[in-house]
This record gives sequence, structure tokens and C-alpha cells, in this order.
Amino acid sequence: MYTTMKTFFTAENGSVILFRGRLVRFSGATDGKHGEICYNVWEVRNMITMEDIIREGHPTLQKRAEEVDLPLDDGTKNTLVKMRRFLINSQDETMREEYGLREGVGLSAPQIGLSKRMIAIHTLDEDFEEHHDYLIINPSIVSHSVAKTYIPGGEGCLSVDREVEGVVPRHKRVSVHGHFYDSDKDTVEERTIRLRGFLSVVIQHELDHLNGILFTKRTVGELEHAEPIEFKLPESTEDESAPEGDNNRTPKEEKA
Ligand SMILES: [Zn+2]
Repeated sequence: MYTTMKTFFTAENGSVILFRGRLVRFSGATDGKHGEICYNVWEVRNMITMEDIIREGHPTLQKRAEEVDLPLDDGTKNTLVKMRRFLINSQDETMREEYGLREGVGLSAPQIGLSKRMIAIHTLDEDFEEHHDYLIINPSIVSHSVAKTYIPGGEGCLSVDREVEGVVPRHKRVSVHGHFYDSDKDTVEERTIRLRGFLSVVIQHELDHLNGILFTKRTVGELEHAEPIEFKLPESTEDESAPEGDNNRTPKEEKA
């Protein structure tokens, strides 16, 4: 959704303004003292915010979501794009502050009140190396490991506004089959992916939402015979003298 445009007025990087009837957010460098400027434009109209996310206790979060018809219609594609964009926005400090977002790595359609079997995932793995970016329609687990894992600090959820004690046992590895939507190419591909560790936890958390299950129903006090996920902080973060708070980003604080 990035577009390069040329326009004739100035705006500070990160500011959101009304431009030709659209709310756009500017980022990128100016190429002149005055007059013509090149910007990357991020359209923020129609974005999902925390107001769109339903919370614990809502009946839609407690029922099995319906299969999505294929081929995808335009409305469904638009919803998927918005779900992905929410996660990207939520991981951007400026957007997070501006719109009061909570940081998320996964989002399911039922969480925005739409009882459909589709999920968005947008995150790095626990080694902060590989980026995973999925929009999956009608996902299902086709196989999983016997071995279990868990996030040591417990899970979080955009639909749960309270601290929940305990950890959630999850399969250490899963294979997930589904139809994957590529919003840049506007293509749908049926395939099976294998995920391990943190990604395996995230996708199981999102799949639970499609079956009306919140992680709060799965928490246990302690776990034996399960290996905790170890997050390897990137070296650049360790080098920075980052201030307290949101800048000290760790995956266990992210919500799904
Ligand atoms: Zn959740």
C-alpha cells in the first residue's frame, strides 16, 4: 500500500493530513527546499483500531467461525488487507501512539466481529531473524509434534484487557494447510506451511479464535515436559540505550 507521489505542499514526516479527500500519512525525505516533494504515502483511512476489536465475553469470540467461500470476493480481500495493515500499524511506535493501538503479531477475523475462518500473522521469529507474513483463509492443522512448548511470560490477546496468570501449552511444531492470500500480487495459493516455536504458538492461538477458544481457557500454572521458547534479542537492541517502556519490545508482550 505504499505509493510514491509528487505533491506541492510540505508535511512533517509521520504527520497525517487530509490530501485529495484521503487521510494519508507522510514518510520519507524531502527532495527540495520548497515546492515539489516526493513522499511515500500510507493511506490510513478505513483502518482497524482498538475500537473495532471485540473483547472477552463477546459471543462472536465464543463460537466456531464459518468457512470462507473461494474465490475471495473484494470485500473479503479488503478485510484481509486491513487485518494485515492493523498488525503493521500496531508495530509502528508512531502509529501506536497516534491511534492508541496495542502491539499485535496476529489477528483473527472473529476479533473484529467477523465470524469467518481467516487470520493474519505478521512477526519475526524468536531469533529475530526470519519474518513471517501470512494472510490465511480456512487454515487447519494437518499435523503437529507431540513435543510441547510455551511462552515463558504467558500469552496475550488483543481481545483480553487483563493480565492473565499462567502459561499455555502448545505444540512445538505444526503443519498448517490453508489458502494464502498475497495482497500485493492479489493471488491466492493453496499450500501447507511448517512452523515451529514462537510462530507455532502464534498460529495455534489464532486458530483457537476460529474455534471460539480464548487462551485464558488453556492456561496452566506450570508445565512439565515442555521446553519454553527462548527469545534471542537482536544485538542492535542490546547495544542501544533504549528508554523504558514500549521501546523495550519483547515478543511476550505482543498480543495476538
Ligand atoms: Zn487473541
